[in-house]
Amino acid sequence: MTNIIKPKIWLSSPHMGEEEFKFVKEAFDTNWIAPLGPNVNGFEQDLCNYTGCTYSAALSSGTAAIHLSLILLGVKEGDEVICSSFTFSASANPILYLKANPVFVDSEKLAWNMNPEFLEAAILDRIAKNKKPKAIIIVHLYGMPAEMNNVMGIANKYEIPVIEDAAEALGSSYNGKPLGSFGVMGILSFNGNKIITTSGGGALISDNKNYIEKARFLSTQARDNAPHYQHSEIGYNYRMSNVCAGIGRGQIKVLDQRVKQRRDNFKFYENEIGRFPGIDFQVEKMGCFSNRWLTTIIIDPQKTGGITREDLRIAMVNENIECRPLWKPMHLQPVFEKYPFYGDHTSEKLFENGLCLPSGSNLSSESRLRIINCFKSVFNNG
Ligand SMILES: *Cc1c(COP(=O)(O)O)cnc(C)c1O
Repeated sequence: MTNIIKPKIWLSSPHMGEEEFKFVKEAFDTNWIAPLGPNVNGFEQDLCNYTGCTYSAALSSGTAAIHLSLILLGVKEGDEVICSSFTFSASANPILYLKANPVFVDSEKLAWNMNPEFLEAAILDRIAKNKKPKAIIIVHLYGMPAEMNNVMGIANKYEIPVIEDAAEALGSSYNGKPLGSFGVMGILSFNGNKIITTSGGGALISDNKNYIEKARFLSTQARDNAPHYQHSEIGYNYRMSNVCAGIGRGQIKVLDQRVKQRRDNFKFYENEIGRFPGIDFQVEKMGCFSNRWLTTIIIDPQKTGGITREDLRIAMVNENIECRPLWKPMHLQPVFEKYPFYGDHTSEKLFENGLCLPSGSNLSSESRLRIINCFKSVFNNG
């Protein structure tokens, strides 16, 4: 142990490529700083090319994209919307912006995403209560694909539209098809900690032209076609700026490289710490390809000889290594605990024993060594 403060190792920090600045400079040189312009159009085209979706709208955040997607599906006060419980609060918050009610569904045990059995049970029970859900928000957690075959099968059977929250999953695919392209709409995030970033931003993607055109309209204050400012609907200021989109155009060029680097982090952890007893990883099932945005582990104290997630987390924090517990499920959050929940509490166990490890695509080999040494010190003392 030493008292010298070592440089911080971040969970996931921005990682610029070579061309971001060129696009940003172009925006400055042409004084095309705001709001829309060639970078926004170019970035939207890039997103379509990458995801295979026909249309996209670049927005100010992933949360804004979820909010708009719910509005586009006609979600109103008192409606119910099904959502994965094991996720970041931004997946569910927009349901409340509309005074609608979330219905939370638990995780399955291997990939930790929405359990299709509980999804169907939830739908049947809500229909029996005469509250058929208006939409399903399905999350691909930490970049890992949800079971889209089953989920889409169930959603189609009951004719409920699916919004894919692919905020963490750009670059991941299911049976070779990019995530975000399965539902009626997909949402992406370019927040600072995501696999690529525009410093802050998001997008809505879809094959439905009407949805994307309406999203563009609503995200620019819903201005009717008139020489003066005329409004027949309530609008939002949710568009991405031309400067941010310039960063995005550069970032998308290195996205495949970033996926490779993150998957390489995962391989490294799997080789180095997979051999310690009681440590398990999020499972990439058949047909799934994860961008491994974050490498996440479950620590089973019954198999580690009593070492807990907290023992490991605190040891890391003391070494100035950023580590976080897995998401606290939404049905346990004070703001959401009164809403219905369907499941067997799998996500609660994941939350109790799970840890996110530093996973940046710029994680250096010295950093990796410090992390592994920290693991070794905990396990050898344990
Ligand atoms: C980051 C994230 C969001 C929100 O994206 P922002 O761009 O930060 O608003 C939504 N859902 C999930 C699962 C996320 O991780």
